[in-house]
Amino acid sequence: MNTIIFATANQHKIAEIQALLGKDYHIVSPAQAGVEGEIPENQNTLEGNAIQKAKHIHTLTRTPCFADDTGLEVEALDGAPGVYSARYAGEDKDTAANNRKLLDALDGQTNRRAQFRTIIALIDHDGAIHLFEGRAEGEILSQPAGEQGFGYDPIFRPNGHTRSFAQMTMDEKNPISHRGKAIAKLAAYLRAQARPATIESPRIGTGYDVHALAPGLELWLGGIKIDHHKGCIAHSDGDVLIHAICDALLGAAALGDIGTHFPDTSEEYKNIDSKILLRRTAEIIRRAGYSIINIDATVSLQAPRLRPHIDAMRHTLATVVEIPVDRISIKATTTEKLGFTGREEGIAAQAVAALQLREAGWQEPGVRTF
Ligand code: IMP
Repeated sequence: MNTIIFATANQHKIAEIQALLGKDYHIVSPAQAGVEGEIPENQNTLEGNAIQKAKHIHTLTRTPCFADDTGLEVEALDGAPGVYSARYAGEDKDTAANNRKLLDALDGQTNRRAQFRTIIALIDHDGAIHLFEGRAEGEILSQPAGEQGFGYDPIFRPNGHTRSFAQMTMDEKNPISHRGKAIAKLAAYLRAQARPATIESPRIGTGYDVHALAPGLELWLGGIKIDHHKGCIAHSDGDVLIHAICDALLGAAALGDIGTHFPDTSEEYKNIDSKILLRRTAEIIRRAGYSIINIDATVSLQAPRLRPHIDAMRHTLATVVEIPVDRISIKATTTEKLGFTGREEGIAAQAVAALQLREAGWQEPGVRTF
């Protein structure tokens, strides 16, 4: 499924283009994509406005998107009202006042040629901008006719027709309208570009880590400090669970292990909070083109009981790697007093992580500004 944002607040426009594009594309509004607030539109050309609106949404979402802008260009008025069509008679966008002002401006004028022009600006997966233009040529009537449509429809008669746009049904107007033609061009382009949704196999990685325990040290597990009389001996904070998770993530991407990226000989990592290592690991994974599907881990230790801390660990780790908490599972087991964990000499942790190749166009969350 190819999701595209239509930078408009007009749900009707969204439904219209969704119907034209079919199931290969999923058209969503900025609000559905998590973008609130006004979309800026203060350029002095239709192209400028369409690009400005699309860029605004693209910058915030890094998702393919498009925006449109339309104006009525009257030949005898050197293209006015053009890009200012909505506000021709004032900031309150009063349709009746706009129409009156235009009729007054053309009073006694024999050249009544005019065209509606729509520009759609599409920003694609690669950030490239494509423009699609639709025109409806016609003339400005001497008085309004018809009740349908909106804007200047009652005073515009398209060439080759005897009725104004406002005397036509939507089904009659859409195929010959500026917007209908621009949308048809966009739809044809997108359909030609449509890639079948590829099913990528997830990549799986495993991680395993062990640390010895010693009395009087802090015990850090899953990014939180746990009250206990022993803690792990380590160069870092000794968070064996996080270390296993880092290795699982790096393993899934075949990008080495935690020691490759954060050598325990380096002063930089002495006593470091392992959450920092995990955050950096997640960044390495993202830069390599992957997103994390899920993580599952098991900690082997005899004491203390981890169950009361598991949810706090999951939330902490989910925040660090920026995935929903329901994609992180942490379990704990004693080893029935057997082996080094059973004798409380050390703690072991195992982790499995699954990654998927990100959709084209995806960018690191750090780039998102909302
Ligand atoms: P928008 O860019 O679609 O918001 O259009 C800007 C202005 O152009 C609208 O507020 C209308 O005044 C006018 N306009 C755009 N499309 C049409 C149309 O199909 N019929 C009549 N007026 C239109």
